[in-house]
This record gives sequence, C-alpha cells and structure tokens, in this order.
Amino acid sequence: MSAQRLDGKACAGEVEAELAGRIAVLRERGVEPHLAVIIVGDDPASHVYVNSKVKTCARLGIRSTHISLPTNTEEAVVREHILSLNAQDDLHGILVQSPLPKHMDEEALTDLINPSKDVDGFHPQNLGRLVQGRTDGMLPCTPSGVMRMLRWARVDLEGKRAVVLGRSRIVGMPAALLLAAKGADATVTVVHSRTGDAESICQEADIVVAAVGRPNMVTASWIKPGAVVVDVGINRVEDDSRERGWRLAGDVDPNVGEKAAWLSPVPGGVGPMTIAMLMENTVRAAEIALTADEKP
Ligand code: NDP
Repeated sequence: MSAQRLDGKACAGEVEAELAGRIAVLRERGVEPHLAVIIVGDDPASHVYVNSKVKTCARLGIRSTHISLPTNTEEAVVREHILSLNAQDDLHGILVQSPLPKHMDEEALTDLINPSKDVDGFHPQNLGRLVQGRTDGMLPCTPSGVMRMLRWARVDLEGKRAVVLGRSRIVGMPAALLLAAKGADATVTVVHSRTGDAESICQEADIVVAAVGRPNMVTASWIKPGAVVVDVGINRVEDDSRERGWRLAGDVDPNVGEKAAWLSPVPGGVGPMTIAMLMENTVRAAEIALTADEKP
C-alpha cells in the first residue's frame, strides 16, 4: 500500500479561497480584519513562522501588525503591548509567538489576551469551552487544522479508535478533545512520555495524530494497515547533504507511508493548516466584532 497524501497545502488553499469571500464581505461593510503578532527574541524558526503568518495575511487582505522585541525585554513590556492591543477597536486578533524567552511566564501573558481576540485559542476561557464540548469558539489552530484536513480527506471518525501522541496544551490535548467531541465521535487514547507501551497502543488505532517532537519516532511497525496518520511534528535534523546542514523531519518515519491509507507530509502537511486556521480565527473574530457593533 502507498498512502495517499494528506495534503495540507491543498486543504489550506481551499480554506483561503473560502476566507477570501468572507474578507470581501467584511471589507464591503467597512471592516478590515486585523491581526497583531508579538514576537520576543531571535529564535530563527519562530521568525520564519511569524513571517509566513504576516505574508499570508498580506495575500488574503488581512491587515497585520508585527511587533518584534529583543530577548531581554521585560515581561511588563509585553504585558503593556497586550493590554493596549486589547483596547484597540480596529484590531481583531492577538498572537504571542511561542516560545517566549525563559524569564517570561507564557501562560500568564496568554491569560491577559481578551478571549474574543485570542486567535491562538489558548486562553483558559477558550480552552475551557472546548473541554465543555463547545467547539464553536476560538479553537487552537494546529488541532483544528488537523480536524479540517481529516474532513477534507473525508475520513470517517465516528466510532473509530484514535490515538493522540502528546498531551500538550497547544496540540495534543486539544486534538484529543476535538476528536472525541460530539460530531467527530472518535474514541480517543492519549499517549505521553509516561505511557508504557506506546507502540502496541498505536497498533490498535484507525487514526494516529503524532505530536511529540521526536523525529521519526512512529515507524511502520506501530501502524495498523489502512490507518490514517497525521504528523504534527516539526523537527530539525542534521543533514550534511543539504547546503544548510539540516532538514525538517516529522514525528513519523516516512516508511509509515507503506502501511497507512493516508499520511500527512512534513513539510506541507499540518504546518500550512495551522496558518490557515489562524487566518480563519482572525476573520471569525472580525465577523463577531462587527455583529456585536451592529446590535441595537
Ligand atoms: P511539547 O513538547 O509541548 O509536548 C510534547 C508531548 O509529547 C508531551 O505531552 C510529551 O509527554 C510527549 N512525549 C514526549 N516524548 C514522548 C515519548 N517518547 N513517548 C510518548 N510521548 C512523548 O510539544 P508540542 O505539543 O508543542 O509540539 C509537538 C510537536 O509538534 C513538535 O515537533 C512541534 O514542533 C510540532 N508543532 C507543529 C506545529 C505545526 O504547525 N505543524 C504547531 C505546533 C507544534 P509529557 O507530557 O509526558 O512530557
């Protein structure tokens, strides 16, 4: 078997095409969706992510404000930026790029973002709604991108066994909640670093979502023939054959493609979907703000 490609680029293209229409409607009504991105420090990968977010905004006609601060910035300065962006009426989304320098409390800063502008979906109010099974709010972008890709590939989740590798606040745990939510209806197992035998648990799964940050950890022997495998991992691995000396690898070994029915590539899988869902959250935030303004 050779797996079909869970093509994040193609799926993101469809999301963008749909957003273009919604953005046009907003503009006709005098609203320009507007996203602010705060980045602190000089982590090269984070700057690449932020630049592609800003570029996607430009392509779609979403206004963006890019605030780049040096590593030694005090947390209070970031706090002030967030509070001032919260108060800005013509701004709909605020994103603080992770990771922040070690001297900052990332969760405390996320908590400060107005939940209606929390386009990353990490504010406790938005994550709390998800725990309650309310999937109509601001959903975290990577997990909701995974769900959109599965829908795009018409993967039937109802009653299926899903295994999520990883339980982080930003990927693993919300992905598990979305897979188990009403409407998706998968039966979900969450695997983490203390799980005894991850391989045999994975072997039972119809759907595997890998979000551990360990290059090529999931190999073909972990996978049931015909399973759907979503590789969230983005890892830099040394590669002397490349001029730059490294390449990106997922958490899933490419040999899984010989057994799986569907496999998402890295790059070109979940990455583009994460950005597409960020754009969607921003447009949604602008639509909700407009509706609130129009209420008598
Ligand atoms: P975290 O480091 O926050 O979480 C990793 C999770 O994997 C933890 O729950 C950890 O368990 C678990 N884990 C680690 N080692 C093992 C192991 N050997 N067996 C089982 N579970 C293990 O990472 P993130 O969730 O932030 O990211 C995961 C990956 O996804 C990374 O490669 C990241 O770069 C990538 N990513 C990709 C995005 C995209 O757009 N494509 C967006 C965000 C992240 P424990 O909780 O016990 O420590």
